[in-house]
Amino acid sequence: MSGSWAAQVNRIRRLQATDWELLRDVRLEMLSDTPMAYVESLAAARRQTDTQWQERAATMSGDSSITLIADDGTDGSPISGLMRVVIKQPQDPSRALQAMLISVYVAPEHRGLGLADQLLDEACAIAGAELGAGVIELGVHEDNARAKAFYERHGFEYTGASRPYPQDKARLEIVMARRLPPAGETQQSESPGAFIDDLGAALAPGQVAVDEQTRTTYAADLGPVLDLQLPLAVVFAESVEDVQHVVRSCARHGVPIVARGAGTGVSGGAHASQGCIVLSLERMNRILQLNADDETAVVEPGVVNADLNAAASEHGLMYAPDPASYKMSTIGGNVATNAGGLRCAKYGVTRDSVLALDVVLADGSLIHTGHQTFKGVAGYDLTALFVGSEGTLGIVVGVTVRLRYLPREVQTVAAFYPDFRGAAAGVLAVGRTRVQPAIMEMLDAGTLAQLDELYGSDLGERGQALLLIQTDGFGAAAEAALVREVLAAGGAAVTAESNAEAERLIEMRRSSRGDEVDNEFRVGEDVAVPRSRLVDYVAALEAMAVTHEVQLKVVAHAGDGNLHPTFWVDRVDREVDADAMSRLNQALDDSIDAALAMGGTITGEHGVGQYKLRWLGLEQPEPIRELQHRIKELFDPAGIFNPGKAI
Ligand SMILES: Cc1cc2nc3c(=O)[nH]c(=O)nc-3n(C[C@H](O)[C@H](O)[C@H](O)COP(=O)(O)OP(=O)(O)OC[C@H]3O[C@@H](n4cnc5c(N)ncnc54)[C@H](O)[C@@H]3O)c2cc1C
Repeated sequence: MSGSWAAQVNRIRRLQATDWELLRDVRLEMLSDTPMAYVESLAAARRQTDTQWQERAATMSGDSSITLIADDGTDGSPISGLMRVVIKQPQDPSRALQAMLISVYVAPEHRGLGLADQLLDEACAIAGAELGAGVIELGVHEDNARAKAFYERHGFEYTGASRPYPQDKARLEIVMARRLPPAGETQQSESPGAFIDDLGAALAPGQVAVDEQTRTTYAADLGPVLDLQLPLAVVFAESVEDVQHVVRSCARHGVPIVARGAGTGVSGGAHASQGCIVLSLERMNRILQLNADDETAVVEPGVVNADLNAAASEHGLMYAPDPASYKMSTIGGNVATNAGGLRCAKYGVTRDSVLALDVVLADGSLIHTGHQTFKGVAGYDLTALFVGSEGTLGIVVGVTVRLRYLPREVQTVAAFYPDFRGAAAGVLAVGRTRVQPAIMEMLDAGTLAQLDELYGSDLGERGQALLLIQTDGFGAAAEAALVREVLAAGGAAVTAESNAEAERLIEMRRSSRGDEVDNEFRVGEDVAVPRSRLVDYVAALEAMAVTHEVQLKVVAHAGDGNLHPTFWVDRVDREVDADAMSRLNQALDDSIDAALAMGGTITGEHGVGQYKLRWLGLEQPEPIRELQHRIKELFDPAGIFNPGKAI
């Protein structure tokens, strides 16, 4: 687990009358963002004078109003979230005061990160314990399943009442309410103990861990941590029935489930979310079938990628997708992230090797998607939909994969260049020969220096950038000869590596990501660009590093145009060099913008997880995101699977 300087810390405080300018700015922002969600129109809000905004801020910060605002903790910083609750006197004075939640807004880049949960918890606490309200009520549009699931998760229930939706009188607003505990009484509508008891009822004692050490170990994957949450418990499933029991139990209690393989993800997809359990699949690690003639295997989700490859190799077969984490990461995690890897240049990514899946759905039922054959086009391709869904649609409990032939011959070519752009040009030159290497990896000078330091090698003396290419199959030697020729003609110093040295180079490349996981000194990404833009993109990265006065290191699955740039600084001391942090963040944002401008993507293989949600809106327009949310609602109407991730 690593910390990240980029953590977006939220300070939640009550609006003051003096905050009127911040209020005006956020109000205009929320009205442009979702005009239909508020009664006021953007045009009307724009016509308000400064005096009117001052009056509004005074009213909203008055005694009968709780207006909470979230910001990053520095005075005058923009508001990232707002929630307004008003307190009403009931008609019957003997009854408790009533709170009405009338407005919620979370800025797009903060969505899905738990800010709405924090605002709601805080608003309920103040309304109940400080202002003495006995109940809080709200209205939600009848079609807004996401909002309903959110409020249900927070203990709101349907009152049975409804009224016309203010902005569209033809539709209904459904009334939900929740009792508010007075001061001193716990906020939880149910003690976690009752839930844990239910969870443990059908599991062996060693399968449910509630001790702090285990909960801390399983709280996060290797991605940057924005908002560390400890799960209520970690559950170690050992069978499909275990998973079904866990899902049913969580569904009954409205507890979110974060599935976890080996926790090697680098986007925060397996980070615990508020009030969740982590469901570890690592003990479901059996290879159930290996059908050498069909060239397929059926595995449980916790099988480690390298173990499947070792078993397949006994039959002259291999499981092709090989993330550099292949010795640790699980097939279930690979499926959920649609992992790529070195060999994907030739053999495709995980989705291209998955034929069928067994998945436990949000109601605990088990489905089987896909087929045992390489071909099969019946109906919508649900298998492909689950691959890459990052644990948000269901829990993968079985995977049928396609195996490929383990190449008998492999040739490795190392081409050293005086600069990184030359290596990027080499990638295109190889493509133009129409030879398809199995592996085509690109390492820059910073990465070579790092490897030399780690392994005592002399890569840095041989060049400033390395293009590492492997051809395989019966034509490997002829293909390698062609590759060597074209790279030498392009100015590279080309060597044919001996088998042992080649294997060592490839293994060094695989581990070059290892200690590069984002920490306080580095930020990194996994964009992909069309291969024709590789040279331009590498040039743009180098320019960004200069502009923002940060260092740059890049490794790339160059055959796929998938780059892992890392921006770093020698030393970040928050006291004396806070500016370095913002320079790193700027460089990172610029690298995303540049990739998108070139027709690329924010994530080639690591997934959106939690960390990249802030950029997703830059790549996918609202209609596409809305469609994805509707798919999510279809599979998981109560939103218990990995909330706040992936979409
Ligand atoms: C050194 C290193 C090198 C790496 N190299 C690569 C690389 O070359 N290519 C690449 O693509 N990635 C790479 N990664 C990232 C990571 O290894 C992959 O994303 C991998 O697929 C994660 O597998 P995991 O078992 O660790 O899953 P986890 O990290 O545990 O989980 C990843 C996601 O999958 C979900 N999930 C896990 N299991 C299930 C399940 N059974 N059902 C439903 N959802 C599930 C989780 O909720 C989470 O969203 C690398 C990471 C490291 C540390």
